[in-house]
Amino acid sequence: ETRRLATLSALPSVTRDGAEISLQANLELPRDVEVALRHGARGVGLLRTEFLFMSRDHAPDEDEQYALLRDIVEGMNGRPVTIRTIDVGGDKLAPSLREQIGEPTSEAPNPALGVRGVRLSLAHPKLFETQLAAILRAAAHGPVRLLLPMIATPGEVLAAREAVERVYKRLKRRKLPVPEQLPPLGVMIEIPGAALSADALAQVADFFAIGTNDLTMYTLAIDRGDERVAPLYNPLHPAVLRLIQFTVEAGMRYRVPVSICGEIAGDPRFTALLLGLGVRELSMAAPKLSRVKQRIRAMSLSEAGMRARRIMDQVDSIRIADLLDDFNGGLD
Ligand code: PEP
Ligand code: MG
Repeated sequence: ETRRLATLSALPSVTRDGAEISLQANLELPRDVEVALRHGARGVGLLRTEFLFMSRDHAPDEDEQYALLRDIVEGMNGRPVTIRTIDVGGDKLAPSLREQIGEPTSEAPNPALGVRGVRLSLAHPKLFETQLAAILRAAAHGPVRLLLPMIATPGEVLAAREAVERVYKRLKRRKLPVPEQLPPLGVMIEIPGAALSADALAQVADFFAIGTNDLTMYTLAIDRGDERVAPLYNPLHPAVLRLIQFTVEAGMRYRVPVSICGEIAGDPRFTALLLGLGVRELSMAAPKLSRVKQRIRAMSLSEAGMRARRIMDQVDSIRIADLLDDFNGGLD
């Protein structure tokens, strides 16, 4: 079985009817690069940079962040690396940031609805600009995309873009190597309101990455870390699926590439449905890549599209799960 999966990592990720699906890895630290390559990742669809700030007393400065990111970009050897700016707050803490951001965000009345993700970055320009400088410098070493977490409005994207442009000019004045062009600037679609205004966000963003972990949590009002409500946490709820569908369709209309990087991207149970909805890019924990690829190679996209349409006609998540399992049964 291990050998079979090892062989798989070298095979292309194409459906039986010839559609190519880009399979990428979610990374947290430079040491994950080797694992991603071993499992055949075509790039990094999500680098969670907040992990560079965790398990340490002091936040890394610009040079240290740059060195860490450069190692990842160089390690991926020409494959695209999607670097997400810091996403702390909610369930994610980084005590090393306390010096710069003051009161821990976990003590807010409702951390999940408070200053987290891009809100924190925009509220602390120095922290944000230091990170952007490190990212832009790393982008001189290979293809980099910049990704903003917890976006709710186009205004946040515009504010972030201004910061990127400001930092880029400053680096050029410092005569530091930067890429010739600014990296594409994408947004996480993980707030229901962002999904429902995906058409507006498509006017200001270069790509979308759907974060189904938070999207499910905020859509169903189920804390992803609270075991007491865990049984209610269900990405197959029709509301979640409709938000994914709406986002993918807006992306197609405005020619904005859409990837999925939440846990469901790495769950083979969801693969046929996501492809059937029009998704062509999935990013997941590296060890999940082989099984998802196996699923992709067993299915045809036209069949997946037909099945997805039937599933999207349903209003009941149990019926949805049954239809999905029925389709998957035929693919094993
Ligand atoms: C998500 O919310 O689905 C996601 C990919 O981001 P994270 O799990 O880091 O919040
Ligand atoms: Mg998230």
